[in-house]
Amino acid sequence: MTNNISRKDFLVRAGSALAVSAFGLPSILTRQNNGKLGVALVGLGNYATNILAPALQLTEHCELRGIVTGSPKKIPVWQKKYDIPDANVYNYKTMYEIANNDDIDVVYIVLPNNMHAEYSIIGANAGKHVWCEKPMAMNVEECRAMIDAAEKNGVQLTIGYRMQHEPNTQTIIKYGKEETYGRITAIRSGGGFRANHEPDNWRAVGEMGGGSMYDIGLYALNAARYSTGLEPVAVRGKQWSVREDIYSDCDEYTDFELEFPNGLIMEGQSSFGKGMNYLDVDCSDGWYRLRPFLSYSGVRGATSDGTILSPDPGNQQARQMDNDALAIKNGTNPTAPGEEGLRDVRIVQAIMDSSRLDGQWMQL
Ligand code: NAD
Repeated sequence: MTNNISRKDFLVRAGSALAVSAFGLPSILTRQNNGKLGVALVGLGNYATNILAPALQLTEHCELRGIVTGSPKKIPVWQKKYDIPDANVYNYKTMYEIANNDDIDVVYIVLPNNMHAEYSIIGANAGKHVWCEKPMAMNVEECRAMIDAAEKNGVQLTIGYRMQHEPNTQTIIKYGKEETYGRITAIRSGGGFRANHEPDNWRAVGEMGGGSMYDIGLYALNAARYSTGLEPVAVRGKQWSVREDIYSDCDEYTDFELEFPNGLIMEGQSSFGKGMNYLDVDCSDGWYRLRPFLSYSGVRGATSDGTILSPDPGNQQARQMDNDALAIKNGTNPTAPGEEGLRDVRIVQAIMDSSRLDGQWMQL
């Protein structure tokens, strides 16, 4: 513990420490480590295995120290690869025991979308900070319960909106704020790829949070909000599937429109059927765009006055996790707190409602 710890920092840490006091000495008083926060990945699927764990080898302010998994055969592989001790291995039933483990400061929920709320709340109640993948949860009620659990336990709840940490994205956020190219007059954004899920894969099952809008369309929706810095007042959407044999239960495609308070309309698209990856912003005095705008690397942009936004060579997820770890260490607000996730989930729900009502405008 440093001597120059701020009062706010102390309060955030103390909140977390108090939550575990029933189980032993608070982690901030006992930990002997390298100053990095210990992260436990919860759910060892594709994103955790191939993207987050490797990124956690590059981070300065946090590191991989634990795993929570329901697949026993994955345990020795992860332990060997990342030097994870037996004491830091949990399954979904024992995860609450992380409360006793001073090695772990953060649980990172990387599970199917319908499991985000339950395991985020278990993590918060164990006195651990929670990072949760997007979409935050299935509905607004779940999002609120997650926010409440984090508040009650004095821990941070942060959503894995990696684009908000990406430098070219941050540049265009600044363009919007400073009206570098004038007032925004139109936004168009779409995210999609040609997916081919098994029909029983959770991404094709509505009640598990499947569908293209939650998976990839969310990036376009979030982009409209971060580009303008505004909250939409109305939305309408249309959802459908072409490959009914796979996506009978959720949207293969979504088209949506957002109306902002100043009358600005954003047109969004989402797809599991075709590739797209664009964010175009028109302004009163010019334009800018990012293409691709949501990829793990290679995000690049151009503007009407010839400015080129070249790809950042850094690792996007390492940057995100370092920023989020610093927010915990410094007791500052994270870039994308739970409230940010809730706003998107609320809008996606309204898009779904609108689609059921033949594309009627829904007030937000
Ligand atoms: P995945 O299907 O590859 O992995 C899901 C994991 O959950 C698996 O390890 C699986 O065993 C486990 N699991 C536990 N209970 C399960 C159950 N009942 N049914 C199915 N799986 C179960 O998924 P993923 O691609 O790793 O995605 C996980 C989360 O990460 C999702 O919320 C997704 O939206 C998010 N994600 C975010 C990004 C990003 O760029 N931010 C990228 C990919 C995925």
